[in-house]
Amino acid sequence: METKPPFDGLIIGSGIGGLSAGILLSLLNYRVAVVERNLLPGGLMRGYRRGGVDLPVGIHYFGSFGKGEPVRRMCDVLGVTEKIAVERMGGQGPIDRYLFDDRTFDLPEGIDAFVAALGEAFPADGRAIAAVGKNLRTLIELQKSFAFLAPTAMAIAPDLFAPLGAYLDGMSCSAGLKRVLGVSSRWMGMPEEECPVFYHHLALTSYLMSSWRLKGSGADLAAAFVARFEALGGTLLCGDPVTEIRLSGKAVDGVRLASGEEVRARQVIAAIHPKKVLEMLPEGAILPRRARRVKALAETEGLFALGATVDAAAHPALPYNLFRLHSGPDGSIVDGFFYQLLPGEKGKNLLVAMTKSPYAEWRQWAETTTGRRGSGYEREKTACTERLFRAAEGIFGSLKGVKLIDAYTPLTLRDWMDTPEGSPYGILRSMQQLPVAATFPRMAPPGLWFAGQNALSPGVLGTLLGSFQTVRQMIGPVRFAAEVFTKLTGK
Ligand SMILES: Cc1cc2nc3c(=O)[nH]c(=O)nc-3n(C[C@H](O)[C@H](O)[C@H](O)COP(=O)(O)OP(=O)(O)OC[C@H]3O[C@@H](n4cnc5c(N)ncnc54)[C@H](O)[C@@H]3O)c2cc1C
Repeated sequence: METKPPFDGLIIGSGIGGLSAGILLSLLNYRVAVVERNLLPGGLMRGYRRGGVDLPVGIHYFGSFGKGEPVRRMCDVLGVTEKIAVERMGGQGPIDRYLFDDRTFDLPEGIDAFVAALGEAFPADGRAIAAVGKNLRTLIELQKSFAFLAPTAMAIAPDLFAPLGAYLDGMSCSAGLKRVLGVSSRWMGMPEEECPVFYHHLALTSYLMSSWRLKGSGADLAAAFVARFEALGGTLLCGDPVTEIRLSGKAVDGVRLASGEEVRARQVIAAIHPKKVLEMLPEGAILPRRARRVKALAETEGLFALGATVDAAAHPALPYNLFRLHSGPDGSIVDGFFYQLLPGEKGKNLLVAMTKSPYAEWRQWAETTTGRRGSGYEREKTACTERLFRAAEGIFGSLKGVKLIDAYTPLTLRDWMDTPEGSPYGILRSMQQLPVAATFPRMAPPGLWFAGQNALSPGVLGTLLGSFQTVRQMIGPVRFAAEVFTKLTGK
């Protein structure tokens, strides 16, 4: 059943990756459709509302949205900046506070301030701090010039594709400094030993440039992207998942939806998990040995998260994030809790809390669906909630007026986004997996492209960069340089 005229480009998934790619292609005069399986668009950026409170899911904060900085510039080109209401984090203080067992480290905004704070906290680590500071400055320049989108991108900073742990050990870095630097790799789901220096620095520099929170809800952010896409003539189809990617000969020529409708398109961008894309392709579209490698990729570790209201007078909103980090006998981080205290209404503030929660711990309920997972699952959720509350009380004191609004597990995310194991940041971009994780997009049949957090890197910065990179590959470097790159760099 085919009811729609063919599109030039069809995008599977309406997260920030899918919608940004859709806007970019629309700006280049492509006739574009974005197909979303859920009834509402926006993917992880959307968040949800419970008991009159907006709970964030995939965007708690993001970096480099200051004027002239990379995320802001990409949003400028997309034409969404004015519609995104934000507030800058930090104020006169830190953007992140790391609470270790034996010390507190305040992460300031700005690379110079960061290097100075490290120097003060770890005076014996001058060599390592100087090297990391130099790298971070290089990364900022590369980001600001969008060098990753130039034809020579793969040749950039090859020495930064080493594991962070070994890199720091090579400079006899102290355990304390390693722990502080390790936080950024841990929130990407990787210990320092597995995290490539490049990804660590990319994420950290983005936040050091400037850190921001949404003033409105995640739904407002999603609405900003949707409004722009539709204003450019894009078609958004929600509530009907793509089930098959169709080929004509060897090349892609459209998709089939769960309803049975077929939608034709010359190019298809999958802004969803690559393992799910494999299931949509006809047999033989991808060499079995390549498909096996992608299927074997490890996922980023699951998260358990909650939102609760607390008494605003007793627990004032904080302009920074709090990380409570516990170390093992060898000094490395073994456990971590993330907290935000956000301004609320009617004398209540919103406490957001998150901690790692491996999928394996929830696997026994893997065959269940939301609302019908049973009492054992509910008991486990309650136990995790209490663990997060107890850890919070170690920081904020007794939680006055605390009321749980909602909590979610890796199974919730798995079923909402249709990602394997509910992986929050998609496939793990560890050193071990880098060769496959970085190159799987090349395995696709002609006309099939990848965007979203698995294409290049997760987070707001990573997914936006991924969309620009994918569009560059689709339209070719010459047209990209003339019609997109010049706008990004202002040159
Ligand atoms: C708990 C959590 C906290 C996070 N915190 C932050 C943060 O503070 N800052 C930050 O920068 N990043 C954060 N991230 C990461 C960030 O949210 C993601 O990297 C980013 O939003 C991913 O966007 P995406 O477009 O790749 O995927 P998604 O937002 O997951 O979008 C994919 C979309 O595809 C749809 N889809 C799936 N299958 C199909 C199908 N068959 N047919 C049609 N549609 C389909 C899904 O329903 C979904 O809407 C967080 C992530 C999580 C989970």
